[in-house]
Amino acid sequence: MSKEPLATSLDLALVGGGLQNGLVALATLAARPDARIAIFERGPALGGNHTWCFHDGDLPDDARPWLEPLVARRWTGYEVRFAPYRRALASGYACITSARFDEVVRATLAAAPHARVHTGVDVVAIAPGKVTVRAGGDGGPLHTVAATTVVDARGPGKAAVTGGWQKFVGQELELEAPHGLTDPVLMDATVPQVDGFRFVYVLPLGPDRLLVEDTCFSEDPALDAPRLRQQLAAYVAAQGWRVRTQLREEDGVLPLPWQTEVVPPRPGLVTAGYQGGWFHPVTGYSFPVALRVATTIAHAVARGDDPAAAVAATVPAHQAQLRFALRLVWMMFRWFPPASRAGVLEHFYRLPEDTVRRFYALALTGRDQARMFLGRPPRGLSWRAMVRAGGGPDGISARTIATRAPEAAS
Ligand SMILES: Cc1cc2nc3c(=O)[nH]c(=O)nc-3n(C[C@H](O)[C@H](O)[C@H](O)COP(=O)(O)OP(=O)(O)OC[C@H]3O[C@@H](n4cnc5c(N)ncnc54)[C@H](O)[C@@H]3O)c2cc1C
Repeated sequence: MSKEPLATSLDLALVGGGLQNGLVALATLAARPDARIAIFERGPALGGNHTWCFHDGDLPDDARPWLEPLVARRWTGYEVRFAPYRRALASGYACITSARFDEVVRATLAAAPHARVHTGVDVVAIAPGKVTVRAGGDGGPLHTVAATTVVDARGPGKAAVTGGWQKFVGQELELEAPHGLTDPVLMDATVPQVDGFRFVYVLPLGPDRLLVEDTCFSEDPALDAPRLRQQLAAYVAAQGWRVRTQLREEDGVLPLPWQTEVVPPRPGLVTAGYQGGWFHPVTGYSFPVALRVATTIAHAVARGDDPAAAVAATVPAHQAQLRFALRLVWMMFRWFPPASRAGVLEHFYRLPEDTVRRFYALALTGRDQARMFLGRPPRGLSWRAMVRAGGGPDGISARTIATRAPEAAS
């Protein structure tokens, strides 16, 4: 556990030192350097074991100065590969490693006059304006900490999900020779389709260093890590890449729900990050939305406003985006048999680059939404399939979804 004494009165008590609360801390200190904040993290380090990627378009300009130190690697574009075509997109892409995240968040908080990081502490109770923290493991003493606002971001819950799952195993590999890639391959779906829709994700981290992830969109949350490792090794070998060392491994089972709720903020308590419903249900990613929540809280603290009220004001816009995205997930899992799911993504990646960018940022316009339903439908999408699938996730019929989208264009 950290040696720092626990603060007793804070502007923000940040429960969980993962992506969401690390961003809240950095954004808040950038907006108000003397803010009284503390992160309470049960693990030994901040950020766990992740490589988080985001698109340049996810970043508002005013976040760049404080976010840039987190970035471990940047690229000017990326590629997607499907059996019928390959496409290079010119949108910038970047990654943050959890090791860099831990280093930067700790250093920033250490340099601020009233900010602290407490690792190795378990938050055992949360109430508006108050957290109860157990320090020193089981049987350790309990402390109560008061804060104007508690931001509860304890990560994805283990609760059952109505929907599907994105499962992956990723390995960071050092190769015996340069791999020859300059940009990431976000989706190589030319691989054999197994356990739903399967694709490989490749990040070139250095001339002879790669992060390779074998990923599937599946109905089943069980992660068969040995099988994914085998598939990953076969992919690496098929590219002609010879591995010198495996540097690290990460994995994930991320919910792709077609039903989920945003937990409403209330005075003194914001439930944020994954567990608050602040993520993208189609990609399983949360970075762009977590960044929006972070800057909203930061600006409220800097103005002396109530952070919970400020976040509450953004809920309707997030929910509107969420509703459309939840329908897409529902369609992907309910209209398309697993073997046809690649066709949905194949169709999607033919859309204009701006639409793709706004899709990732969970900021689609009505015109973008309409575009997803226009043109030649993806393989597997037929009226028969729609009728067989019955109603939509919230009772809206399949026919209504398909015919409503063009109306949204304006
Ligand atoms: C391996 C992996 C890679 C991913 N890559 C991307 C990506 O590239 N881009 C993207 O946008 N999304 C990505 N995601 C999805 C999502 O962004 C991450 O899951 C993200 O970390 C979620 O942020 P969070 O802050 O909500 O939760 P987390 O980052 O999981 O943080 C929650 C923290 O709370 C702590 N905690 C839990 N309970 C307690 C307690 N009682 N007391 C104290 N601390 C507690 C946990 O130890 C943890 O550190 C990835 C997910 C995984 C698993």
